Amino acid sequence: MKHIKGIIFDLDGTLVTSSLDFIAIKQEIGCPDHADVLAFVNSLPMHEQQKAMEVIHHHEMQDAHTSEWIPSAQSFVQKCSEKLIPMAIVTRNSHHPTRVKVARNAIPIQHIVTRETSKPKPDPTALLNLAAQFQLPVASVLMVGDYKYDLQAGRNAKMPTCLVNFDTLPDYAHLADYTFEHFDNLHRAMF
Ligand SMILES: [Mg+2]
Repeated sequence: MKHIKGIIFDLDGTLVTSSLDFIAIKQEIGCPDHADVLAFVNSLPMHEQQKAMEVIHHHEMQDAHTSEWIPSAQSFVQKCSEKLIPMAIVTRNSHHPTRVKVARNAIPIQHIVTRETSKPKPDPTALLNLAAQFQLPVASVLMVGDYKYDLQAGRNAKMPTCLVNFDTLPDYAHLADYTFEHFDNLHRAMF
């Protein structure tokens, strides 16, 4: 993986633990099980959107205050930092809980894109903007995440994609160019 010169991470379930209860959120806002939460909220009339966003925000803040580093992710990010590899976080989370997670865990990543500042993944806009900021071709920026939206966003940006943190390969694993059960394996492949 010597061609990888920059890395974009998902946050929840990739760098830090997340206990967001999507089933509870969906029940509270009346979102069907199969639907995407953010897309569902956007389809609501304005006054209902605001109420739904308050429910989501409440869950996100609770989650933020209990988030912890995924240990092997911490050592990987530390190593990338030492090697001066440019890094960014692109999350579908909102600004405030994201800042809490980053501060609470002292995550050494300055480039952070939340859903207020870009279209949510799988839209590739945030990823493309970051590659431009890094002054790197998309082919040398790795998109690392634990969920299909991360991999789809990477594919849409024509970046190499990397799935991490899984016990058994999920059904969206075909969207990943690299699959590593743990960051330890990615660490060994990169360094
Ligand atoms: Mg995730």
